[in-house]
Amino acid sequence: MMEEWKEQLQNSVNTLERLKAFINVTSEEKEAITTLNTKWGTSPYFASLMDKDDPNCPIRRQVLPSMKEKVNKFGIQDYLIWKENRDTEEVRPDSIARQYHNRVAFTVTDVCVNYCRHCFRKEVVVDKELHLRMDVDEGLAWISEHKEIRDVLITGGDPFILSDDKIEYIIRKLREIPHLDMIRFGTRAPIVLPQRITNGLKKVLSVYHKVPIWINTQCNHPNEITEKTAEAVFKLLTCGVNVGNQAVLLKGINDDVETFRKLHQKLLTVRIRPYYLFYCEPAPGIDHFRTPVEKGAELIRDAIRGHTTGLAQPMYVIATNVGKIPLMPDYYIMGKDEKEYTLKNHKGIITKWPNIPE
Ligand SMILES: *Cc1c(COP(=O)(O)O)cnc(C)c1O
Ligand code: SF4
Repeated sequence: MMEEWKEQLQNSVNTLERLKAFINVTSEEKEAITTLNTKWGTSPYFASLMDKDDPNCPIRRQVLPSMKEKVNKFGIQDYLIWKENRDTEEVRPDSIARQYHNRVAFTVTDVCVNYCRHCFRKEVVVDKELHLRMDVDEGLAWISEHKEIRDVLITGGDPFILSDDKIEYIIRKLREIPHLDMIRFGTRAPIVLPQRITNGLKKVLSVYHKVPIWINTQCNHPNEITEKTAEAVFKLLTCGVNVGNQAVLLKGINDDVETFRKLHQKLLTVRIRPYYLFYCEPAPGIDHFRTPVEKGAELIRDAIRGHTTGLAQPMYVIATNVGKIPLMPDYYIMGKDEKEYTLKNHKGIITKWPNIPE
């Protein structure tokens, strides 16, 4: 019998006909699907979470192409070349993106379960305009030659689309490299294909080893979290694998106080620890998902910090070509003199704190 996750992939909702089994498709959605030259689709599981009648459904908007993708006022052309420093002097395999001295992103596939409309790697993954060579062995060889690398972030595409054997191979080969201290996966599988966390995959992940595995997933709206998510995350935790979240700030999807707080609280109820909130990057054709930069800091100020459990708080960052730059709210230091600081809390209450000289 075919494993359920493979069946999900085989029945990917990526045609108008299949989509109609889940929702009442609007004429605008139909126009985008039939006229835009773009890859789209999701698992039947994730499609089943869409609102049948509301085109503004946060899941629909992440899954279905929109004519707005033809507009590009603020996006940067050849975004990934710039963002991933692919035009610099250091020669690296296509699969290695580097912004830091001691860690790299290792792209092992350009295939995804869900082709997110807001994807910052859309030139490679969704639009297929930029062709990169995803040669795993070439990437592994580069990493083993670069002794300064201590942390490898395996990404894609979605690396959990690979077979258990392929994932096992990558982990095993990385663990043979003596200078690595940790391995990370970036995967939306716990959210868009929780069935992927099978006993077979658990076996691959649950080997005790001094080089631990960490996972970050991407969940952007509370409606994406179900009982199946909770089960998948629990299974990962039983393997010794922690699961964090990297949400993307998306206009009209999670940029209001109530949704934003609910998202981060609900993540904790299924044991996912918020890690980053990303500003939606200036890749071409996704203007309609972007807010002003300040928005993320405002949401943390007004929805999270002090308003709910501290564990619910992600770090708000812009992911630039020179690394991630934090943009946390800065309302709390009102002033400072030789004697003391004047601080403000989440309710606007002022307090004083002694200033200790160096
Ligand atoms: C995001 C990213 C990393 C990891 O950044 P952390 O802040 O350590 O999570 C590493 N390399 C690249 C190219 C990245 O984009
Ligand atoms: S899963 Fe990640 S790589 Fe794939 S389309 Fe979504 S954001 Fe892009």
